[in-house]
Amino acid sequence: MRSVTYLDNNATTEIAPEVLDVMWPLLRDGYGNPSSSYALGRQAAAALESARGQVAALAGCREDEILFTSCGTESINTAIQSALAVDPDKKHIVTTAVEHSATIKLCEHLARRGYEITWLPVDGAGLLDLERLEAAIRPDTALVTLLWANNETGVLFPVHEIAEIAHKKKTFLHVDGVQAFGKLPLSLNDSGIHYLSMSGHKIHAPKGVGGLYVNRRAKFTPLLRGSQENARRGGTQNLASIAGFGKAAELAADHIGSRQVLDWRNAFEDHLLATVPGCEVNGDRTHRLPNTSNLTFEGVESEAALILLDEEGICCSAGSACTSGSIHPSHVLKAMGFSNERARGSLRFSFGRYNSAGDLARASEVVAAVVEKLRRLSPPGSPVLEHGK
Ligand code: PLP
Repeated sequence: MRSVTYLDNNATTEIAPEVLDVMWPLLRDGYGNPSSSYALGRQAAAALESARGQVAALAGCREDEILFTSCGTESINTAIQSALAVDPDKKHIVTTAVEHSATIKLCEHLARRGYEITWLPVDGAGLLDLERLEAAIRPDTALVTLLWANNETGVLFPVHEIAEIAHKKKTFLHVDGVQAFGKLPLSLNDSGIHYLSMSGHKIHAPKGVGGLYVNRRAKFTPLLRGSQENARRGGTQNLASIAGFGKAAELAADHIGSRQVLDWRNAFEDHLLATVPGCEVNGDRTHRLPNTSNLTFEGVESEAALILLDEEGICCSAGSACTSGSIHPSHVLKAMGFSNERARGSLRFSFGRYNSAGDLARASEVVAAVVEKLRRLSPPGSPVLEHGK
């Protein structure tokens, strides 16, 4: 395969070599079912519980508060539907306009089933008005569900303050922590959060494994019924991937305090802001993941830029990975009040520890050259194709 500069770590990540080292022996020889009582099964169960300990350590919670699932999307679906099952008379959900499609699609489905959804707006920096959030919670609100870190802009919601509000208003709080887990220090034990979703493939583990934190005092109803995971998530566990997820969590803990990715991101962004006219950072620059840079390049179509960057071996994205291929401008940037044109001129670069300062220096030069080329081909005033407004 041709060498690539991978700047799309919020979409997915490369599997860490140490993670593969843990997975291979389990795939090859450690095929026991963790529920079997003979030695091969007991070894599998030990690997499973060791991974649970590693994930719990990174999440800052007890081991028995972690369930393994097949992905972040399953965790989100489980948490939301579990919270709704607690009191079937409560038919109101509070969420935000900038959620991942896993939450949006489920809430849209629930709306068709009679639930009322409040979609809280964000401001131009992607931030929430917490007074508005508090006012939106009613006696019939079953839960508040929102992101910790936005996958497109990296903007962080103040989940600890939100947890206090949810506590005061006596409602459940589910946090989509898929982008925060492994990138920010988490201490769920004393957070007041009831449920938090996470995903392996965002932290250098394979795709197809996720985790769900369920606070020990929160009521829980399984989505998949069966005996595994203490009857909280049926289905024989994906042992090798779960063990890989555990190892990835342990490795992430070693990197979480490091400024390296943050310094690379800032240098990349500073170079583009200084050299490319009409370049702006999208989203609040202070309350932001250290690895994410969402930039608008005035007058540039991001879909065209993606093609030219791909030719140069640079992987990044326009909008979120789950909606790319669609020509609609990002719902996150639209919710921030951007025009279609500005939203469509935006690219997301998301970095990881396998990048290097050299990679990023080259990438920032290439991005600047691509933007210049596209502007030459389509100077200001030439018609801009408006798709689907
Ligand atoms: N939530 C957020 C914020 C994400 O970025 C993603 C993945 O893109 C998901 C949920 C879904 O996770 P998974 O791909 O593991 O289903």
